[in-house]
Amino acid sequence: MMIHRLFLLLVCAGGSLSAQVNIVFNYDYDVAGLFTGANEGRQAALQAAGDYVAGLIAPSTFAAITPNDTDSWIGRVRDPRDVSQEVEVGNVTIPANTIQVYVGGSVLSESYLAYGGIGAGWAPFESTPEWAATLYFRGNEPYYRYAIGSISFSSTKAWYFDDDISSVEPMGGAYDFFSTAIHELFHVLGSNLHGAPNWSALVDSEGRFIGANAMAVYGGPVPLDAEHDHWANGTQNLILGTSIVQDPLMDPYGAANERIYATALDVAALRDLGYATVAVPEPAAYAGWLGLVVLLVVVRRRIRRR
Ligand SMILES: [Zn+2]
Repeated sequence: MMIHRLFLLLVCAGGSLSAQVNIVFNYDYDVAGLFTGANEGRQAALQAAGDYVAGLIAPSTFAAITPNDTDSWIGRVRDPRDVSQEVEVGNVTIPANTIQVYVGGSVLSESYLAYGGIGAGWAPFESTPEWAATLYFRGNEPYYRYAIGSISFSSTKAWYFDDDISSVEPMGGAYDFFSTAIHELFHVLGSNLHGAPNWSALVDSEGRFIGANAMAVYGGPVPLDAEHDHWANGTQNLILGTSIVQDPLMDPYGAANERIYATALDVAALRDLGYATVAVPEPAAYAGWLGLVVLLVVVRRRIRRR
């Protein structure tokens, strides 16, 4: 009897309860010091961006990734120090309802501000299908729920760091860090990400996004850029919950001195990817167990006008 009760308690502790999603950041690979050392204060600006994006997602249940004697994995992300490489982050534990994002600064090509995407992982051949499903879906099958991701921000661009996003100040010609960070975090969620299964399944043969929620907000299939990673340049929408017209957050281009927020279209796409979201206007395969788990590593970057 005692064992039985203990088991039930462990099930509850394992993350079966719906709760607010947390986006947390790991700075182990920030050798450029964009967010560490003398620049540690910038972590507040990044967390403000993480909290903004997490706040768009309604309380959810993303199962914990809890390695033990029988279940293990090796997480892999695009290396924040060098986006041409991947880095193994180890047999990491990710709490329930938490997404861990590895961030850092690096020298990117001149036309890129940042480079971000979903993480990946390897699990041993002898892993159970249940463990593999947890790594893929975190209890949300058929929707992939990525436990890890990464973002590399340009270490050579002039950034405007703002940890109080309730107001917008002059940016002095710099790029708004918040705007770029929330854009990249949408990629970390698997949105506007060619190759991410749930996203790619909703791109039609003409390269348009056909998620029902996004189409309802846009008024039909939504044009994408050539790589299917962003809304087509020139797409416009309304900032979520307002009547203010803006380029969508997941537009491919941006500019200095510019603050952008998620639009209804951006958030509707999250809903099409199976996320429960807040304040979205009412809208008018799994490949099977192969023994070896290979989650996708797909990385996209933000290209900005100069
Ligand atoms: Zn992007």
